[in-house]
Amino acid sequence: MGLFRKLHAFIIKESPFEDEANGLLFLMRTVLVIWMPFYFVMGIYSLISGLGIKPFLVFFTGLLVYGGIFAETYTRRSQRCLYYLLVSATVITGFLTIVFGWRASFQNFVYICFLIVWYDPTTGSRRKAVSSIFMAVSMCVISYFTPFGQTVLTPGTAPHFIVVYSNIILFSICLSIVAYYFCNQYIESEHKLREYNSRLKQIAETDPLTGLMNRRSAEQEIRVVVKESTRLKYMFCLAIGDIDFFKNVNDTYGHEAGDFILQSLAEEFKNFMKARGFVARWGGEEFLFVLPRMNGDEAMAVLDELRHIVKNKEYVYKEHTIKLTMTFGIEEFSKISGVEKTIEEADKKLYLGKQNGRDQVVF
Ligand code: GH3
Ligand code: MG
Ligand code: MG
Repeated sequence: MGLFRKLHAFIIKESPFEDEANGLLFLMRTVLVIWMPFYFVMGIYSLISGLGIKPFLVFFTGLLVYGGIFAETYTRRSQRCLYYLLVSATVITGFLTIVFGWRASFQNFVYICFLIVWYDPTTGSRRKAVSSIFMAVSMCVISYFTPFGQTVLTPGTAPHFIVVYSNIILFSICLSIVAYYFCNQYIESEHKLREYNSRLKQIAETDPLTGLMNRRSAEQEIRVVVKESTRLKYMFCLAIGDIDFFKNVNDTYGHEAGDFILQSLAEEFKNFMKARGFVARWGGEEFLFVLPRMNGDEAMAVLDELRHIVKNKEYVYKEHTIKLTMTFGIEEFSKISGVEKTIEEADKKLYLGKQNGRDQVVF
């Protein structure tokens, strides 16, 4: 496990260039880390199983070249490494195909390089298309030079089976790895997009000062309540609460003190409304309360409790202790008048409360 972790850390070491596509480097390294031991084992095996010096030489040349490219991924640009890999893998697997025959499947590894090229997000489509043509042409060339008759492998012998099947298995593994990288890239960008969307949604729906719902999202939520109340046949109330003489707070203690009060109140309202409905910042120092499953009298009792809480609390800002009162206007929702009219009515009652001396709930 420790070794695996070290290897993993080695593979995912980032490029020295800040603007590089690291995923491409990681993919190339992963594939190379599999190819190199394979070439080493195959080179030794070719020698001891009497396949001759030719396969041994190609394998070990390949091993050296891939080792070089692997090292280059730590110091060079990924595109350059990719180019080296594409060309050298085509040449080396080409030679191996000519030596071992088409059935040994070495040529398939060219496809892996081709997929890696397509994986790279920084390579343009034209270059990708050119590399596809390069791949098709090289496969034709390799095929042209591959003997139809005798290769170093004698059909039916152990080396024949070992080389053919290990190649097929290794090719499948490499293909799975590339697919895994593709899939990961897709999932990652999906994930980022979703995260970004939910952040945007949050920004669009909340009031930055108080963290409460803003007017726009409150209107949306009310629409949900209207639908639900029709379906489940319950009534609900809408209320507007406005801080009394709030201008004085700003004028006496400064705008920052006013902001602090708005934030403290918002926190208070949020906690208070949690089990009762919801609250939104409707305007500057006006709050909208939505009280589902309540008639006007019940909503009146609830908001009167809130009025008392606000009135009895002392808001301490720096060295100042600030006392506040609030006035509320409530209206029961009726389908005939609709949301807008209901809020208008609540607003009228709020105005009445202001005229009658403030610090009261009007229904
Ligand atoms: P009333 O009892 O009639 O409601 O008196 P009031 O002073 O509260 O009413 P008015 O509408 O005259 O003043 C509202 C004030 O609320 C004016 C404005 O400066 C202040 N205000 C609105 N939004 C904010 C805000 O985001 N931060 C701060 N600090 N003040 C705000
Ligand atoms: Mg006010
Ligand atoms: Mg006001």
